[in-house]
Amino acid sequence: MFRSTIIGVAALCVATQAVAQVAIAPFSLPPLPYAAAALEPAIDARTMAIHHDKHHQAYVDALNKAVATSPALQGQSLDALVAKAGTLPAVVRDNAGGHWNHSFFWKTMAPPTQKMQPSPALAAAIDAQFGSLAAFKTAFKEAGTKRFGSGWVWLLVKSDGALAIASTPNQDNPLMDVAEVKGTPILGNDVWEHAYYLEYQNRRAAYLDGWWQVVDWKTVSDRYAATRAR
Ligand code: MN
Repeated sequence: MFRSTIIGVAALCVATQAVAQVAIAPFSLPPLPYAAAALEPAIDARTMAIHHDKHHQAYVDALNKAVATSPALQGQSLDALVAKAGTLPAVVRDNAGGHWNHSFFWKTMAPPTQKMQPSPALAAAIDAQFGSLAAFKTAFKEAGTKRFGSGWVWLLVKSDGALAIASTPNQDNPLMDVAEVKGTPILGNDVWEHAYYLEYQNRRAAYLDGWWQVVDWKTVSDRYAATRAR
């Protein structure tokens, strides 16, 4: 029994590892996993540099400031803060979400020359849920264009194992207690204007179309496999 408990805990750790962000305050800005220009032409270098160096840094700084002045929040992982975001002050919800979402976002993308595709298992799940990869992309784009104001669009795995598309406002995400559709995100796109305005201006739909060129399907597929290992 002891052994099976250990195996169970190990399996859970493996399952959540793909998206887990367990660091505690003070939080720090993770480096981009590629050069700022590496995602051109889908996302231009100046947008990437400002987005990462200024916007993401601002979420990290604001989160650290909020945690530093609230003893009850100290010693908690980013995942723990995100999970109970609805019970926390808005400044913590917004900036913990901002730090989580952007850390996840950078790793969701890769240079376009890599031309990766979903794994066979993920492709089959997408076909089963949405009909085809093309139909999934159309539905994902629709969710992203319909998000009024600022927010995110996600592909997530619900607790029953099914895939779903969901959009969240501001810096919320599907791991939050306040999310309308809850689950483990495996892919997410930032539809705040700061993610695309310099190159695309008001054309959010064109940004959502171009973004597929830089989706790292290897990482997304690995995240999917980790949720299925539970
Ligand atoms: Mn952003």
